[in-house]
Amino acid sequence: MAIEKTLILIKPDGISRKLSGLTIDRLDHAGFEMIGAKVVSVSDELAHKHYIELKDEPFFEPLMKFIQGGFHNNYKNKVLALVYQGENAIEEIRKTVGATNPEEADPTTIRGSFGRVATKGHYENVVHASGNAKDAARELALWFKPEELLD
Ligand code: UDP
Ligand code: MG
Repeated sequence: MAIEKTLILIKPDGISRKLSGLTIDRLDHAGFEMIGAKVVSVSDELAHKHYIELKDEPFFEPLMKFIQGGFHNNYKNKVLALVYQGENAIEEIRKTVGATNPEEADPTTIRGSFGRVATKGHYENVVHASGNAKDAARELALWFKPEELLD
C-alpha cells in the first residue's frame, strides 16, 4: 500500500446546510492528515473539467447546476476543497464518505448520515471524494497548486 493524497469537496448542499464541521469531524477521525484546504468558487469551466468523465450521463446537466450552487444559491457557488494524505487514503476515505446514492449509503457514512435524494432526482450527497489514484492525481492538479499542499 502507498501513501496517497485524495481530494474531498464539501459540496454546496453541505455548505448551505452547515455540514462542513460535522463532515470534517468524520474525515479527521478516519485517521488521515489534512494537507490542504480552501473555499473555491466553482466556475462552469471548473465544474465541467472536474466531472468530464460523466459528460454523457443523463444526470450531467443537474450535476453541473448542483456543483455550481444552482440549487443552493443562498451560498453562491462555493465549495470547500480539502486534501487528505495517508496510507491507502483514497479507498479508506471513500469508505468514510459512503455510496454515491445517499439512500443506499450505509447510515454510518457521511453520505448515509447527511445526504438526500432531491425531489428533482439528483443526489445531494454532501461530499465528493476521489474514486481512484488516476482521478485523484487529475483532480488534485485541477483544484490545488503544488505549493498549497503542506505534505
Ligand atoms: N449523481 C447524481 N445522480 C446519479 C449519479 C450521480 O446526481 O444517478 C451525482 C452525485 O452528486 C455524484 C456525482 O454525480 O456524487 C458524481 O457521480 P459518480 O458516479 O462519480 O459518484 P461518486 O464518485 O461521487 O460517488
Ligand atoms: Mg466519481
